[in-house]
Amino acid sequence: MPPPGDVKIKVRNLSFAYKENTVLKDLTLDIAALAVTAVVGPSGQGKSTLLSIFNRLWEDIPGAHLRGRVHIHLNGDYQDIYHRSCSLPALRRQVGMVFQIPNPLPMSIYKNVAFPLKLSGESNKRQKRLAVERALKQAFLWDEVQDRLHEDARHLSGGQQQRLCIARALVLKPEVLLLDEPTSSLDAAATEIVEQLIMRLKENCTIVMVSHDMAQVERVADYGLTLLGGRVVNK
Ligand code: ADP
Ligand code: MG
Repeated sequence: MPPPGDVKIKVRNLSFAYKENTVLKDLTLDIAALAVTAVVGPSGQGKSTLLSIFNRLWEDIPGAHLRGRVHIHLNGDYQDIYHRSCSLPALRRQVGMVFQIPNPLPMSIYKNVAFPLKLSGESNKRQKRLAVERALKQAFLWDEVQDRLHEDARHLSGGQQQRLCIARALVLKPEVLLLDEPTSSLDAAATEIVEQLIMRLKENCTIVMVSHDMAQVERVADYGLTLLGGRVVNK
């Protein structure tokens, strides 16, 4: 467990079920700020579910229900993200997510990264350009794409597409980044770049990453949580 002052996410007595299938049982844990926490464990143990709880992505699934509390330190204060006063659009801006399979939108590289800005109402073109460039640099992708920003993003390699998705998640300057097996579809070289990137990103962002690769966890993570039978078996 991280020292108390450095806690970004506090999970208290969290239970979660899809209809009758209870996936997480009375979890209490802390996630360290500005560090990489790896969530590991066999398939089907609720790793992806736990990530989806941190940005409320599960809420539209019929029959899914949650008990317990999740507080995330945002804008200088702990917020109960399931309290009715918590704004979902604001939460999603501050807690970004990247999935296992890169999912670029069918549009240009530039528009992919600018997309969340558009949704959040940013209309100043210069601000948009600067934010896109910053995010692409942060995602270690700028040098490879700066001359082809208006090409279709689906022409990029798998590793580049995943870094693009990371740039898209970073463009709104989230405080937390959720990564669900971000390298599992990538080859060794692309994986290495993404790992370097993750280690750099924790300077500005709290990272929670699901991984099934224990060697990767050793290389990248500061803390590890193992989920088994709905519980955390180490902290
Ligand atoms: P992991 O990421 O560790 O492989 P998941 O969180 O994806 O595990 O899944 C945990 C359990 O919840 C599994 O039994 C899975 O079948 C079930 N599950 C996951 N997503 C859904 C869903 N959308 N609807 C119903 N059950 C689900
Ligand atoms: Mg999963």
